[in-house]
Amino acid sequence: MLSINEKVVVLTGASSGIGEATARMLGRKGARVVLGARRRDRLERIASDVRAYGGTAEVLEVDVTKREDVESLVRLAKERFGRLDVLVNNAGVMPMAPLSALRVDEWNRMIDVNVRGVLHGIAAALPIMKEQGFGQFVNVSSVAGRQVFPLAAVYCATKFAVHAISEGLRQETKDIRVTVITPGATESELARTTSDEDARTALVEIRKDLIPGDAIARAIVFAIDQPDGVDVNEVVVRPTASTW
Ligand code: NDP
Repeated sequence: MLSINEKVVVLTGASSGIGEATARMLGRKGARVVLGARRRDRLERIASDVRAYGGTAEVLEVDVTKREDVESLVRLAKERFGRLDVLVNNAGVMPMAPLSALRVDEWNRMIDVNVRGVLHGIAAALPIMKEQGFGQFVNVSSVAGRQVFPLAAVYCATKFAVHAISEGLRQETKDIRVTVITPGATESELARTTSDEDARTALVEIRKDLIPGDAIARAIVFAIDQPDGVDVNEVVVRPTASTW
């Protein structure tokens, strides 16, 4: 079993929130991280901090809705470090609104980022992991992938899909670990992707109790840091005060 400081971990959505917290925590533990997102300046800053902590970091500007971008991110890890231990499929958006608002472009964006993005990660990494005979997917879902909330029907649908895809992948593979991380309300920039005024008002109440991104990063590190034969399938992490 490799310790965390020997592992090569690719993360999508690493430029803010949960992805950034996880990149920093892995970096402090000396891991080799490969960071993808669209905001390259943010990635560069995080990578330089990771190097200062004693970790190793590479960055690539990636739009997870483009299969070739995710392929390039995973290829970068393999070429630079010769292996791929973990892919954290974390990138996500949550433009909340009632279905009656017919924000079809936002529905499509959620499907493209939250579902197709994860599938692009699987398509890029699965052949490498199968050839290696080991690997781990950590797919970041949500409590909205277990329970449906008003104003979030499409977001919930995308996160239910992340659970379904992850469970299917787990059942189909014998040598690859699959972990679903199921956060409750967590400090991040996620609420900014909502523009609908009523939903923004509702979000203030929904997001009044928040846990820091580190709380989710610890769960991801816990799942990664298990012996090879042990697959932590799901970790649900909510604010203590949360009712949903
Ligand atoms: P943030 O908005 O802070 O982070 C989202 C990340 O996704 C950013 O790094 C953003 O980077 C990236 N991203 C968005 N669109 C794309 C794209 N097309 N291509 C590549 N990267 C993209 O929110 P969180 O940290 O909260 O979100 C991380 C995950 O956690 C998401 O999957 C979210 O659904 C999930 N989650 C969050 C909860 C919360 O309360 N915060 C609760 C439950 C689940 P960039 O803009 O630079 O591309």
